[in-house]
Amino acid sequence: MNTSAAIQPGEGLKKLVILGAGESGVGAALLAKQKGYDVFVSDGGAIKDLYKEALQKSNIDFEEAQHTESKILLADEVIKSPGIAEKNELVKKIRAKGITVISEIEFAYRYKGNSKIIAITGSNGKTTTTSLIYYMCKLGGIDCAMVGNIGYSFARQIAENPKPLYVAEISSFQLDDIKTFRPDVAVLTNITEDHLDRYDYKIQNYIGSKFRIAENQQAGDVFIYCLDDETTIKNINRYNIKSTLYPITMSKELPQGAYLANAKMHLKWKNEEMQMSIDDFKLKGKHNQYNSMAASLASTAVDIRKEKIREALQTFESLEHRMETVITIKGVEFINDSKATNVNSTWYALESMEKPTILILGGVDKGNDYSTLKEMVTEKVKAIVCMGTDTRKIHEAFGSIVPLIVNTTSAEEAVQAAFHFASKGDVVLLSPACASFDLFKNYEDRGNQFKQAVKNL
Ligand code: ADP
Repeated sequence: MNTSAAIQPGEGLKKLVILGAGESGVGAALLAKQKGYDVFVSDGGAIKDLYKEALQKSNIDFEEAQHTESKILLADEVIKSPGIAEKNELVKKIRAKGITVISEIEFAYRYKGNSKIIAITGSNGKTTTTSLIYYMCKLGGIDCAMVGNIGYSFARQIAENPKPLYVAEISSFQLDDIKTFRPDVAVLTNITEDHLDRYDYKIQNYIGSKFRIAENQQAGDVFIYCLDDETTIKNINRYNIKSTLYPITMSKELPQGAYLANAKMHLKWKNEEMQMSIDDFKLKGKHNQYNSMAASLASTAVDIRKEKIREALQTFESLEHRMETVITIKGVEFINDSKATNVNSTWYALESMEKPTILILGGVDKGNDYSTLKEMVTEKVKAIVCMGTDTRKIHEAFGSIVPLIVNTTSAEEAVQAAFHFASKGDVVLLSPACASFDLFKNYEDRGNQFKQAVKNL
């Protein structure tokens, strides 16, 4: 454990308050304690036992199920969990008092030393791209850690097991409160409507937040983005990006970057070139071809060799709850894409369907516009099974297109209804385009209940 680093960036700052004791909050608390801050963690809800134990073990002062304002407002600096919205009353008071608010990745960044960071953000494909880059880097022999929304928080990893390279999945909420965070390699997968409830229903705010991944980058850094993503391209010139741009595309050849032509991925990086047939990619679907191109460029940027990238693309398995094939029963295939929590993900899921589809859709709608799905649904979907407490918008959007739409309120009911509508040769696809917390704990719980219900058929 590295406890010798001086406080430096935090000098003069003594009281650090951390709001939210989830993975990122607890990670930040452990790192802050180690660096000599006076730390207080406050969570408005219950703290998981695992996290409580970690705080107690490090003698960190905390409270749960309450926020003691008098104590919190004494902070020199506040680290806000990405789960807490700006419109939260306490956050407003903290801001009004002029206390600096930062995110956990910003805090961790202060203590990363000489290590490098590959940071991945975007509306869709973050986890897949992050995991694939990590896998490539490991295969390539780099001692690295995968942090952020997957595994340990960035701060906890630095506190407990610092590495020369971090592959970090970063949400827009984490980017909202950065100041100096500067990844050596940044990947912006795409931008589509998501989480608009957190951005005053203004897409421009959400877009701005995503582009902040490149905000502090300099000329020697790398920015990888998708030329085919309309929102990215419409907005890229609004931000003063200083890093070297490496685009990915399926629509044209590029002098530098990665593109798809004649069913081959072409990678061009400085004077190097690589080609690989997309049939050799283990991950299937168009969206994964984008993810594979982005990951290959990012890994090349940290000197992973072509052979290793090729090997990684040939062997990397799809992740749980992302287009995961569950089982085939009486000729009906069941696919779990519970992680599809917005419309764009569901579009890509449908795009890769080659059989008539019974689509399980619904949950907590974060301001969805279903119109972009209409064409795909018309072409591929024979029935929709709504799963959620509010299904009105789904009926409005697809009522005139799909002859069969039914409402259900549990995974079991949904699976039974879908199976009832399905014939041999069909596929039942759970790709809800919505968040899950009306009926489930999270998308994993939704995916697991779906799989269990399928197995119970
Ligand atoms: P995230 O971490 O950004 O939520 P994941 O990698 O977990 O993304 O993928 C979630 C879902 O999003 C997948 O099941 C798939 O349907 C869809 N998806 C993955 N990659 C992309 C992409 N590049 N573009 C659009 N949709 C994608």
